[in-house]
Parts: sequence; C-alpha cells; structure tokens
Amino acid sequence: MSQRVTSSPGSSERAVRTDEHFFPGSHLAEIQMVIELEQVTKVYRTGAIAVAALRGVSLSIKSGEYVAIIGPSGSGKSTLMHILGCLDTPSSGTFRLAGEDVSSMSEAALATVRNRRIGFVFQQFNLLASVSAWQNVELPLTYAGVGRTERKDRAMTALAKVGLAGRVQHRPGELSGGQQQRVAVARALVTEPDLILADEPTGNLDSVSASDVLGLMDELHQAGRTLVLITHDIEVASAAGRVVGIRDGLMTENDNRDLENVR
Ligand code: ADP
Ligand code: MG
Repeated sequence: MSQRVTSSPGSSERAVRTDEHFFPGSHLAEIQMVIELEQVTKVYRTGAIAVAALRGVSLSIKSGEYVAIIGPSGSGKSTLMHILGCLDTPSSGTFRLAGEDVSSMSEAALATVRNRRIGFVFQQFNLLASVSAWQNVELPLTYAGVGRTERKDRAMTALAKVGLAGRVQHRPGELSGGQQQRVAVARALVTEPDLILADEPTGNLDSVSASDVLGLMDELHQAGRTLVLITHDIEVASAAGRVVGIRDGLMTENDNRDLENVR
C-alpha cells in the first residue's frame, strides 16, 4: 500500500469522502479519509521567541492505512501527533478528521473525539503506577461513562488481545517495559477507536520487546485499524504500509521507495 501524500487540495480522493457526521453514532470506518491535513502550520511562542514547528504540512490518510511518520529529533513529529490527536490546534491550515473540520469543533466535542475515537500510545507508556493493569485499561471507558461491569469486561478482553491475560492484576512496576507498553496498547484499543496514534512506541524498549509491540501494531492493522506511527527509527518505520518523512516542519517523502533519502 503506497499511497501518495496529497498535497493539492481538490484531489480526486476528496471526492470519495462522505460528509457523514462524525459523532455521535457515526462510524469512521465507513468514511474513506480519516485524516486530511492541508498546509498545516504550528508556531510556538515563548515570550519574544517564535518557533515554527510545522511549516505547511499536507497529508491524507485513509481508513485502514498504517502510516509511519519518520523524522529526526526536533523535526515536528510530536507537534504533528498532538494536532492529529486533537490535543493541540494548528496555527493555520486545515485539519479534517473523518471529514469534520477540527477547528470548528467545540472543546467539548474535541474531548469526545480524543476519548472515544482516538487511541494514544506514548513512548513513556503513561500508565498510572498505583493501579493494576486492568484498572489502567478501563480508564478511558470511565471517562466515556461506561458502567463498571462492562468496563472490567472490556479491559480484560483488551488485555487478552495483547497477550496479557495472565497479568491483569499486576501494577506497571511489576511488569517489564514491553508488557507495560502492551498495557498501553490495550488501553488505546479498549474504546474501539478508529485511529490509533503511537509516538515513538518502541523508543524505551529493548529490541525484543520493540518487535513484540510492532507485531501487535501489525495485528491491529490486519484487523482494519487506522494506525499512525511516529518514529525517528527507519527500521521501526518500515513496519508500516506507507512511510512519510518530516524534516524541519515539512513533509519530505511520499512513500517507501524514497525511504533511503530520509536517513
Ligand atoms: P520531534 O517530536 O520531532 O522531536 P517536536 O514536535 O517535539 O519535534 O518539536 C519541534 C520543534 O518545536 C522543536 O524545535 C521544539 O523545540 C519546538 N517545540 C516543541 N514543543 C514546543 C513548545 N511547547 N514550546 C516551544 N517550542 C516547542
Ligand atoms: Mg517527539
């Protein structure tokens, strides 16, 4: 799957996008284009200093795609992930998530999107140290207002999916790094999100655990999930169906054939 980055507005892909409303009750999987970024910029201002972290990024990602975004440290990867994850908004340009212009959403609507439609996996796992694996996994469901019994059932199912059925009572500190990241993947999955965003998910793992987590990502892709994997590591990126490069806040590459050039 080697889909070109769409940099021009009004491409043919735009035509197949439905305008079905994003939520509540809609199904992202039925919508062709999950992500459409057009000329997105992000400028951070700290006092008198302005840092342009993104300088005009255009990118389209279809439902069911597995895309890696690769770039060196400081290239704007995390900034991009924050925008894709509705954790932050662009300074200019447009971001449509499943056809819906994110800039027009209220803060409450964005919070709903983050909680129910997007699963996050971070380099540092970001698990609560004081509670068990299953309690970590059920957390997004608590925010979503799911009842206690269903929460526990779904958390257990998600942990079984990532191969941790035997570790549900363990706290993060009682698990290996690879196992902790699998808990984090289960937590990202438990809401049945339409998009999974992973920022350097293998960055803190040894090579065995890293390939374990990448194998898990692969399974999710096979199951029809839309995945965006952010990494500085070319080997990690090569696990994805499509690789796009980012450098100095700009997209540099369109697909795997150009991978060599981003080293
Ligand atoms: P990456 O994840 O690829 O390492 P980032 O998106 O974190 O890159 O950062 C891109 C650029 O934006 C860097 O120059 C970084 O210093 C700057 N930057 C990131 N976050 C902030 C922030 N909150 N305030 C100011 N500058 C920031
Ligand atoms: Mg980063």
